[in-house]
Amino acid sequence: MSDSRIERCLDLCAGAHKQSGDDLSRSLIELQNELRSLSNDNTRTNESEAMPADCNIDDWIHEPVITMDLAGYLTGWSRGAQILFGYTPAEALGQHILFLYADEPSTHNGEIFELFLNHGNPLMEVRRRKKSGEIFRANLSLKHILDDNKEPVGMEAILSRVADRLSREEKHRLHARIIEDSDEGILIIDSDERIVSVNSAFSRITGYSSAEAIGETPDLLRSGVHSADFRARVRGAMHGAGAWHGEIIGRRKNGELFPQSVSIGVVRDHAGVVTHAFSIFSDITVLRTAEERMQKIVNYDSLTGLPNRTLFHQLVEQALISARRNNDHGALLVIDLNRFTSVNDSLGHEVGDELLRQVGQRFRGVLRDEDILARISGDEFVVALVSIQKREHSGLVAEKLLASLATPFVIESHALHIEACIGIAVYPEDGLNTAALLRFADIAMKRVQVNFEAGYLFYCPEMNIRAKEQWQLEGELRQALTGHDLLLHYQPKVSLRSGRIVGAEALIRWNHPERGLILPGKFVPLAEETGLILELGNWVLEEACRQIKSWLESGLEAIPIAVNLSARQFDNQLPGYLQALIERHGVPCELLKLEITESLLFRGPEIVIPIMNDLAAYGFTLALDDFGTGYSSLAYLKKFPITTLKIDRAFVVGVPEDENDCAIAQAIVTMGKQLRQEIVAEGVETLAQMAFLRDLGCDQLQGYLFSPPVTAEEFELMLREGRRLPLD
Ligand code: C2E
Ligand code: MG
Ligand code: MG
Repeated sequence: MSDSRIERCLDLCAGAHKQSGDDLSRSLIELQNELRSLSNDNTRTNESEAMPADCNIDDWIHEPVITMDLAGYLTGWSRGAQILFGYTPAEALGQHILFLYADEPSTHNGEIFELFLNHGNPLMEVRRRKKSGEIFRANLSLKHILDDNKEPVGMEAILSRVADRLSREEKHRLHARIIEDSDEGILIIDSDERIVSVNSAFSRITGYSSAEAIGETPDLLRSGVHSADFRARVRGAMHGAGAWHGEIIGRRKNGELFPQSVSIGVVRDHAGVVTHAFSIFSDITVLRTAEERMQKIVNYDSLTGLPNRTLFHQLVEQALISARRNNDHGALLVIDLNRFTSVNDSLGHEVGDELLRQVGQRFRGVLRDEDILARISGDEFVVALVSIQKREHSGLVAEKLLASLATPFVIESHALHIEACIGIAVYPEDGLNTAALLRFADIAMKRVQVNFEAGYLFYCPEMNIRAKEQWQLEGELRQALTGHDLLLHYQPKVSLRSGRIVGAEALIRWNHPERGLILPGKFVPLAEETGLILELGNWVLEEACRQIKSWLESGLEAIPIAVNLSARQFDNQLPGYLQALIERHGVPCELLKLEITESLLFRGPEIVIPIMNDLAAYGFTLALDDFGTGYSSLAYLKKFPITTLKIDRAFVVGVPEDENDCAIAQAIVTMGKQLRQEIVAEGVETLAQMAFLRDLGCDQLQGYLFSPPVTAEEFELMLREGRRLPLD
């Protein structure tokens, strides 16, 4: 082999004589390489072809020098290159430099060359691959090989291997430091399950010093809350059954339990035998607390601490699954507090909130532990009785809940009386899932509410039919409010002294596109139930004011127009609202009379009377409508600042024949007179009724005898014509 190499060198020398320029340079480089490799061969004849990678390469001769032509094809391959890469010159020469690259070349040789041209003597760190496949990092210095005319003819690359950055000791020290400083607790056990090492985070989290822990088993931290099966799995991981990651509860030295997130792994010796196991854990108490807090926010009502609608649904669904399995019966009770809004309005939200809290406590107090109680909206509570023997039993629970409210709630020196309406839906008769039961119980509850009284009702399917009709009507009524299908009719009130029209009552009508004219009896109660009454009431007030103003402007005689107010409109914002309304329309307050009924007492006289006084102070006159049909509490009547009493049609119908009606009518008139109130008799249809009431001392009459409610145009005409009631 050496002989043939020497011959090749001689050939190269002979050839070089005849060459010039590039060819000459290439030959000289080849010659140089051949000589170098010969020299290497001579000095290391006993070495194997591929030297171990970590052999010490310090001799210049063993420096890995590679030359290549301008296209990147290897032209020289030093002994050092052979030792470093493991390729013989025969394997390397003529190959493209890319075959030594460890990675797909992102830096193409051409680019290296350009880099070289730009920077003269670039030194860069590269990744290269040995024949064995091993990848290593090396510093690469590149330079041009120039011919006589200083033109580049090739490149020389000198590689020097980048030494490992860390020594073995440094590495150990560093690893130990990292373990020690880790925020995660680390515990290492030997094959006897004895703790051999812990870090300082371990001591910080568990409270055990390393001296206390070392020599113990990990049972030191055992909480006792996990099943044997679970512990067996964790121990299996410690014996090499596979890495394990999970959450477990540990016990600190002070006995406190704490949740931890744990990873368990093992260390094996050369033979694959587990010599040690380690556990890396972090204390996730903070995380858990935050999670629990989140859970609370998501599932519980922050005010009462009771489950909210979301959790209630989940709990009831679970209960229904077991009820289904055991053929059990259950019931769902929807409870709505009466007058709660007025407490909030008049005494402030803090009192309202405290009231809700106390109501929640009282309800909880009368229920069994297994019953589910939740607050699902403002003043609406719901109870699920998960197992009842009889339908009636849920009625008894409803009674207990209502009775729990009997004692007044004392909040900030206020003694508050509060009542509730309860609707009950029974599983499985009324509904099979939570949503249906809730809906039906709600429908039943709304039926109770209609009467403004406390109590409870069981749901029955007829309620649903009615409810469906009402939903439809409600939708249509909403549309009517935004469209032009509502109108006011006016029923004259005539003086029983002069027979002249002295006022009128505005009565709402709904001109339904398909059903024609609908009277308020059909939709006002619905509007009350749904809360639409507020919008409806506002519409009536606006329209009445607009009409009064328009009559005023047209020079019509100014007479008061009465509008009916719903109890729900009667809140402490009403006086201010009305004041602004008449100002906006330019209507004097004495022309807008307000008809109220005793039903508004359900809001509580302590709330209602101050509002009435405010209205009177603004100059509005109040008439008590339908008198005799409601509470008819004379005690209250004295306290109400009303100017007018309207005797309900119910008592007018029977006069003068029915003795009882006559007696009642007489009593009302006498009392009204004593209180200096103006008395109006409603629903007068006959002359006999008129004569009787007039003799009693009634001031005015309103009824078909004179006129039914009529359109604004008709009423205007009546007034212009000066129509009178013939009194004799
Ligand atoms: P109300 O305030 O007691 O109105 C008197 C009702 O008696 C009116 O019925 C009227 O048409 C009727 N009426 C008057 N004279 C006679 C008569 O001689 N014979 C008979 N049989 N009935 C007579 P309407 O218009 O159907 O109103 C019924 C109730 O609806 C009203 O009773 C009132 O409570 C309510 N309502 C009417 N309009 C409104 C309104 O704008 N807002 C509110 N909240 N309620 C209203
Ligand atoms: Mg009225
Ligand atoms: Mg009336």
